[in-house]
Amino acid sequence: MNQSETLFKEAVRYIPGGVNSPVRAFGSIGTTPRFITKADKAYMWDEDGQRYIDYIGSWGPMILGHNHPDVRQAVIDACDKGLSFGAATKAEVVMAKLICDIVPSIDMVRMVNSGTEAVMSAIRAARGYTKRDKIIKFTGCYHGHSDGLLVKAGSGVMTAGVPDSSGVPSSVTSDTLTAEYNNPESVRLLFDKFGEEIAAVIVEPVAANMGVVLPQENFLQELRDICDRYGSILIFDEVITGFRLSLQGAQGYFGITPDLTTFGKIIGAGMPVGAYGGRRDIMELISPVGNVYQAGTLSGNPVAMAAGITQLTLLKEHPEFYTELNKKSDDFFNSIIKILRQKNLPWQVNHIGSIGSLFFTEKPVTDYSSAKSSDVKAYARYCNKMISRGIYIAPAQFEAMFLSLAHTSQDIAQTLDAVSESL
Ligand SMILES: *Cc1c(COP(=O)(O)O)cnc(C)c1O
Repeated sequence: MNQSETLFKEAVRYIPGGVNSPVRAFGSIGTTPRFITKADKAYMWDEDGQRYIDYIGSWGPMILGHNHPDVRQAVIDACDKGLSFGAATKAEVVMAKLICDIVPSIDMVRMVNSGTEAVMSAIRAARGYTKRDKIIKFTGCYHGHSDGLLVKAGSGVMTAGVPDSSGVPSSVTSDTLTAEYNNPESVRLLFDKFGEEIAAVIVEPVAANMGVVLPQENFLQELRDICDRYGSILIFDEVITGFRLSLQGAQGYFGITPDLTTFGKIIGAGMPVGAYGGRRDIMELISPVGNVYQAGTLSGNPVAMAAGITQLTLLKEHPEFYTELNKKSDDFFNSIIKILRQKNLPWQVNHIGSIGSLFFTEKPVTDYSSAKSSDVKAYARYCNKMISRGIYIAPAQFEAMFLSLAHTSQDIAQTLDAVSESL
């Protein structure tokens, strides 16, 4: 038994499933998780000393690569001054101003500790503002694990939410309506029926939690238009796309302005951080200014702010990073497509910016049901082969691959060889 296997055996005794977040489990590929000891640039090392070229990047935060010297130094400097005060700090002002300066749709922002919290709070703000209860989400879009959002479309778009998880009362999800990604008609039908009761539409502007699924021409614009028509709030969940697709996230990339935006992952550079922000008239309803209550003992934590500020500042000061990263990623995913063609394999690759997914299906993947047509057993075989060749990709079909600035052309060439052999 290697170190990871030994640790996993112990982990399952004390932690449900041996992991603190289900996506870390290797259950869907039928092996044991690698226990990671350290990471640097594009690499991670496990307890057995095996090095991996990493395509998860902590699920998004590591856009600059692991252990970036400036981010690390900022964290060390912040630690020197104390870990938390539970009182207002200058770093919070710097962070808020930075986000508001970078993202034009954001007049005000509130820091929280995770993407889940950001989404939960943004929805509360939208409900408080509109004085309406219902929300629309899309099948296959993930918005964290709060009760009201653990819903997919059970049977068709007109059905009110049925919880995906045990422990979620149906009374909590009955106001969650589900529509189909890339299907504006499914949204119109819900608005025809419930329009005056719909507080918000929440969407991943690029879906990245059913694998990467791109919004089709006009989809996001149609959401903007229909929300305007009914006085509903459009929320972009940019926990993955924010500061990644472009400095201004997906909203900058596609030129569509949401009312509220949620951030997570990348915004903390690896520390547990989330944020939500948007129009001043909505954000001024948040406590202690208004009566939409939202709080957090460790929110805006000085160490977390130091990491986030440093990463965002670097990104802001180097627009060429995005050109370089997106070009590198385009070349990478296009090379995978080429390999598939050479081998006469019908699989699909969706990619945009520095994220992408290889789906083991012949169908173009445009929504949840086409994503679901993937052969997950084929993915599991492929994934295990990649990992055994030292390429760390998500241990599940319905996740994204993340590239970083730290991936060198040599890393990418080695990865493409592994892709070719594994396929
Ligand atoms: C990861 C994710 C979340 C939840 O963020 P956590 O920090 O895991 O709570 C919400 N929305 C999207 C789009 C995500 O990818």
